[in-house]
Amino acid sequence: MIAENLKASNQAALLDGAVVANQIKEQVKREVESLVREQGVAPCLATILVGEDPASAVYIRNKIRACEEVGIKSEHHGLPESTSATELLELVRSLNARDDVDGILTQLPLPEGIDETVVIEEIDPLKDVDGFHPINVGRLSQGHPQLVPCTPAGVIELLDYHQIEIRGVSACVVGRSQIVGRPMAQLLLQRDATVTMCHSRTRDLAAVTRQADLLVVAVGRPGMIGAAHIKPGATVVDVGMEKLTDPAEVQRLFGSAAEKRFAAISKRGYTLIGDVNQAEALEVAGKFTPVPGGVGLLTVAMLMKNTLKAAKLRRGLIQ
Ligand code: NDP
Repeated sequence: MIAENLKASNQAALLDGAVVANQIKEQVKREVESLVREQGVAPCLATILVGEDPASAVYIRNKIRACEEVGIKSEHHGLPESTSATELLELVRSLNARDDVDGILTQLPLPEGIDETVVIEEIDPLKDVDGFHPINVGRLSQGHPQLVPCTPAGVIELLDYHQIEIRGVSACVVGRSQIVGRPMAQLLLQRDATVTMCHSRTRDLAAVTRQADLLVVAVGRPGMIGAAHIKPGATVVDVGMEKLTDPAEVQRLFGSAAEKRFAAISKRGYTLIGDVNQAEALEVAGKFTPVPGGVGLLTVAMLMKNTLKAAKLRRGLIQ
């Protein structure tokens, strides 16, 4: 379902993420059913959550629910905040050793005092369904991707579904994180885009982003990309997802569409917002992904796809 009443005939078209996420999950479900039928095994995802961060708990619940939807087994390990790095690494090693576990996901961020890099590096690369292990990062950058980070992989699925051309276009990625920006740029390069990467030290950001036919933004600064950053007619993908609670900020960023956002704040205490100013993008972009309703839904769908892929890789059913 496309978010809000944003459409008008001469304005940018919205790229719906829900329809893509549902299609991916349906496909995974069918493939899981045939794996069970033909091999007698259902893929299994082990999730680990250290501590009680409420946002992380919601993400984990969504992942477990998605597993149920597509027929993937899930096994959750909830550990107390006081868990030591040694204890966590022991758990990861025991999951690595189990033949009945296909994917291992450690919900980030980890509590202070536990080095995320060490934990990620401990996960068997063939069970690394987040695609964060250096082996998987290296494979992607060498042009031989195997398990790829879910959010940028989901962006590619979204672009393909909506038949957005990638090959040969001028693409710009704003943000260079390990989980979104860097793998996003690699995936676009893999698909023959001409890729520019921007970050907090980029000079005259708008002058750079305005050159792009395809602009992907993953920064975490609500509404920072406005009309001046967007080439007329460009496709804009907004990966940003932040909670906005300040009504004055909502009024500034949403203008005449603010009413629905106020309603969301009264109901839930916040409204979700991306890095792109939607009202301005509507006027300038050719196509763009709304928040919510765009990229956000694809991450979990791609996690299901990666878990299925890990199960097949481990059994030598695919390479
Ligand atoms: P990080 O904080 O790890 O990275 C942010 C990046 O933005 C950094 O590379 C930083 O540059 C860059 N940046 C910060 N300020 C500016 C600026 N003024 N101009 C240009 N670049 C800037 O964020 P993530 O990649 O983890 O997440 C980004 C957003 O995507 C967040 O809103 C997050 O919630 C969302 N997200 C959504 C997901 C989904 O499922 N839809 C999944 C993952 C993330 P530098 O490197 O120089 O510091």
